[in-house]
Amino acid sequence: MPPPEFFTKMERLLGNEYADFAATFTQPPHVGLRVNTLKIAPGDFNTMSPFALKPVGDYAPAGFLLDDASKPGGHPYHAAGLYYLQEPSAMAVAQLVDPQPGEWVLDMAAAPGGKSTHLAALMQDSGLLVANDVDGKRATILAENMERWGTRHALITNAHPEQLAQQFGPVFDRVLVDAPCSGEGMFRRIGSAKDAKSANVEWSQEQVWACARRQTAVLVTAAQLVKPGGRLVYATCTFAPEENEGSIARFLLTHPNFELVEPLRFEGFERGRPSWVADDLSHEGLEKCARLWPHHFPGEGHFIAVMQHVDTKKPEGFRKPFGFKLPKSTELKVWREFARATLRGDWPEERMLLKNGRLYLLPPDAIETDRLKLVRYGLLLGEVRPGYFKPAHALALALKPDEVVTAVNFPADAPELAAYLSGHPLPITDDQLPITDNWLPITISGFPLGWAKASGGQLKNHYPRGLRMVNPEGRL
Ligand code: SAM
Repeated sequence: MPPPEFFTKMERLLGNEYADFAATFTQPPHVGLRVNTLKIAPGDFNTMSPFALKPVGDYAPAGFLLDDASKPGGHPYHAAGLYYLQEPSAMAVAQLVDPQPGEWVLDMAAAPGGKSTHLAALMQDSGLLVANDVDGKRATILAENMERWGTRHALITNAHPEQLAQQFGPVFDRVLVDAPCSGEGMFRRIGSAKDAKSANVEWSQEQVWACARRQTAVLVTAAQLVKPGGRLVYATCTFAPEENEGSIARFLLTHPNFELVEPLRFEGFERGRPSWVADDLSHEGLEKCARLWPHHFPGEGHFIAVMQHVDTKKPEGFRKPFGFKLPKSTELKVWREFARATLRGDWPEERMLLKNGRLYLLPPDAIETDRLKLVRYGLLLGEVRPGYFKPAHALALALKPDEVVTAVNFPADAPELAAYLSGHPLPITDDQLPITDNWLPITISGFPLGWAKASGGQLKNHYPRGLRMVNPEGRL
């Protein structure tokens, strides 16, 4: 549990409301799941879901609440990227960013990918989504989650906000700063952890101020990436006014070219609290911010502010198109053979990039990134090896059912799926014949999980080793 000083501070701030707020700490946190609308409509998923689902509400049409006992993280539908496990309040953030298909969107502090997967879905995986995290390990997890989601139009970077500003300038239609914060809104979740050590939450007022200073710095840099007329959205999962209305007020005082706008409002979305910031920081419009409180909303604590860049001058950013150096035809030979045997649809070679033996399909809006550390650009198709092409796991997860020549499909309860996900080979059954020596996606209810290769009368397992489930009994 958080220390008593945290509760004393909240009591002072909330007054009459405090008892209801404090009571939420004795209740279990809500568990949420957001359906991947790039792969399946929420209603269709609900129909085939093995878990009982309840819609979170109009604010997030793909979001559902579910029973804590459901264990959705271990289900093969999760491995197929049909949903992301996300706390229900966190689903409000991308909805209020409100990205439109075709836009350029930057998620500046994106790992592990809750908001980025949501943004990609709302953008219908079009335009360009730059998902960045300053922490290298977290950026790798972000890439894995985006890969499972099946995105093709994302650029994943591991950069400091200032490096992003130097590389791109003011080119983005929308920039999201899901800021590192003191995380007070998640205390109830941590407090409910089964492990007693992790159940103790560290909190101090000094830490709150340190977060607030860092947030203002990140916001100032983020503003340099928003194009005139574009939007800057700031979110935290904390209650602390210093990090919420305070960070916004400090930013707006030095940035008169930004103003708060009224976001979409839904049931349970409360207003910002201008009276909680010091008088010398008071700024018009702070009540336009949105606060989600656990005692008013079925989710944890969140704060969201939507700001508009009010300059009307033309963007002078560096929308520098990517300088394609096309792979040679001989280098693409193995890819072409693979694609002819395995895939359907259009795989435009004029957007392909071959780097260190890895072949990528970049988004049509690809931009130069020469000064940044890239984690993933567009869709990794696979590796060009002497004499053959090895398809990437990312490609399997990005494939739509009509883009595959032949797949080996299993229903959700088939024992073959557990065997496949634990790395075992699968027998080729008579009804699957004739299967020739080819790469084949293994699918669950039609959704790809990964690759297998027909060889010597069985399906050799190519599910990535790092993702395999420990199930030694799973061999068929
Ligand atoms: N948006 C993520 C999601 O929905 O899954 C959660 C982001 S988390 C609240 C904040 C992120 O900020 C962390 O991943 C952390 O690595 C990153 N971060 C930490 N310090 C930062 C800084 N100075 N500038 C930008 N990002 C920072």
